[in-house]
Amino acid sequence: MRMSRRTVLASGTAFATAPLYVRPAFAATTDIIVIGAGAAGIGAARALRAKGLSVQVIEASGRIGGRVFSATTTFGVPYDVGAHWLHYAEDNPFVSYGKDNGFDLYAAPEDQVLYVGNREATDDEYDAFYDSLSAANRAMLKAGRKGKDIAAAEVIPDTGDWNMSTSFYTGAYEMAKDPADFSCADWYSSEDGTDWYCREGFGALFAHSARDVSVTLNTQAKTIRWGGTGVQVRPTPAP
Ligand SMILES: Cc1cc2nc3c(=O)[nH]c(=O)nc-3n(C[C@H](O)[C@H](O)[C@H](O)COP(=O)(O)OP(=O)(O)OC[C@H]3O[C@@H](n4cnc5c(N)ncnc54)[C@H](O)[C@@H]3O)c2cc1C
Repeated sequence: MRMSRRTVLASGTAFATAPLYVRPAFAATTDIIVIGAGAAGIGAARALRAKGLSVQVIEASGRIGGRVFSATTTFGVPYDVGAHWLHYAEDNPFVSYGKDNGFDLYAAPEDQVLYVGNREATDDEYDAFYDSLSAANRAMLKAGRKGKDIAAAEVIPDTGDWNMSTSFYTGAYEMAKDPADFSCADWYSSEDGTDWYCREGFGALFAHSARDVSVTLNTQAKTIRWGGTGVQVRPTPAP
């Protein structure tokens, strides 16, 4: 089978190549190589496998999960460094998977605590922060509802002292992006519903769910060659 760029399945950093000449062991037996064992790569591998293809995932780091990772040593309890909310629990497959596999899942608490320096905010500060946040949400809602594909930073109003906190909350904290880097239209179309937590960590849950996928760790794809009759992925350590 010849490979063209159009047949490459691209998703995040994950993409598939076939036929594949990585290491002799893979070349003889593998239809598809997926690069990266993050959520996209594992999802791609599973979907390809369901089509009857043999799949091998190669992962540069020493673990599965990419940005879904639970650290266990930092605080002595599982701590999700990246993804931590199981969004839209009503229809999130990780919720049913977790329940079926003995993980402790629960609705993320609604109440949050605001700190100013090393003390809890006063009532006035809470009010000022929520006013600022509401103003930002209203502005993004107004633009998003009209389908405006413009950066949130363009509509979030200047609320003075609370600007940076509002930017952090609406951006890095909720969207993993600064308000300059996500669109009101995308924000508006993101799912609503309930967010859940996993006590053992979303990363632990994700890694558990990927146990059945064949992943070679500590193997970084260095070059992908498109010429000739196939595609070559050259990893380190070299074959
Ligand atoms: C701080 C933070 C909080 C977040 N919170 C949430 C949340 O609460 N809920 C939620 O659903 N989402 C959340 N997200 C988003 C979510 O984590 C990501 O959308 C998702 O994990 C991305 O998956 P991915 O597979 O596309 O990429 P990644 O997770 O980045 O995976 C890419 C993988 O490819 C590997 N790789 C890269 N290059 C190579 C190479 N050349 N060769 C081999 N391997 C390679 C990397 O090592 C990595 O493991 C958050 C993200 C961040 C950063």
